[in-house]
Amino acid sequence: MRILVTGGAGFIGSHLCERLLAAGHAVWAFDNLDPFYDPELKRRNLREIARAGGAFTFVQGDITEPEPLGSLCREAGFDQVIHLAARAGVRPSLEDPALYQRVNVEGTVRVLEAARRSGVRKFILASSSSVYGCNAKVPFAEQDPVSAPISPYAASKVACEALGHVYHHLYGLDIVMLRFFTVYGPRQRPDLAIHKFARLIQAGQPLPVYGDGSSARDYTYITDILDGIEACMRQSFGFEIFNLGDSRPVRLDDLIRLLEHALGRKAVRRTLPPQPGDVPITYADLTKARERLGYQPRVPIEEGIQRFVEWFRTTGAGGARGVATSS
Ligand code: NAD
Repeated sequence: MRILVTGGAGFIGSHLCERLLAAGHAVWAFDNLDPFYDPELKRRNLREIARAGGAFTFVQGDITEPEPLGSLCREAGFDQVIHLAARAGVRPSLEDPALYQRVNVEGTVRVLEAARRSGVRKFILASSSSVYGCNAKVPFAEQDPVSAPISPYAASKVACEALGHVYHHLYGLDIVMLRFFTVYGPRQRPDLAIHKFARLIQAGQPLPVYGDGSSARDYTYITDILDGIEACMRQSFGFEIFNLGDSRPVRLDDLIRLLEHALGRKAVRRTLPPQPGDVPITYADLTKARERLGYQPRVPIEEGIQRFVEWFRTTGAGGARGVATSS
């Protein structure tokens, strides 16, 4: 198949491009190398994709602009679009809420529009566990209400889901919304907790611990997310929403202990008040994804953290800006 991956130079996108190339697809990554974190990390991701071989094309462009996205879609004739490009991160979205709406909402409309005008039939979009807000009921199931997001980022993802439904209803596109639960692994965004904490522990610097350490995240290893995306590519759904998580929330203080163990160093903790926009827990109900996609997360957090730390040690990755615990 001919596949467009928006945000293909980023953390999840670069892994996805490699996975799709290995499966024999022709893959285009569309990305503006946004400076939210060091674009050199994205260039490195692109070099690694290219080294892996296969029919890979990188196009630098901005999803909020009609071109070159429109002509790329017309000329390449994509079978499927996997739309990952976004401004990610909960806390930074409080600093620049309008930017988050512009990139995530207006950008998504432009990608949907370019896709439907060029005859794309299948569209998969990265939503987020943050749409559940402070859902009191755990685990979070797809049919739970998502009308009470608590950050501009989460609200932008709710809007993306609504737009996906519009394009399915009006134009019959086959659309899948995937609610990712905090994704981690090699190349993880440097602003996310695991990556940021690893860097601070390694440097012997204090870790900002927001709240009493009891907040919990359903950390999901990157290869499990890729398995879920691939399962969606193989079927037609009309319009569907799926959680892709691990369904085993990990408390923040336990996460720090796992990192200490893997890095062989003690963390220095600096306790701070809970952050506005952060939810107390994320926890995926995977019943629907298991039944309809055959989705089954395979990498437990203990193993995933080891793999992340191995990568972290070999790359000395850095370049963080800001901090987030989920996205
Ligand atoms: P990332 O920041 O590494 O990747 C996003 C990519 O989009 C970046 O390479 C960036 O340059 C690109 N981009 C941003 N604005 C753009 C624009 N205007 N035009 C073109 N490209 C643009 O983030 P990620 O963690 O890989 O996240 C990928 C997707 O998954 C995002 O939609 C994010 O909201 C969603 N998501 C991620 C997580 C997670 O834990 N990582 C959780 C839930 C949802």
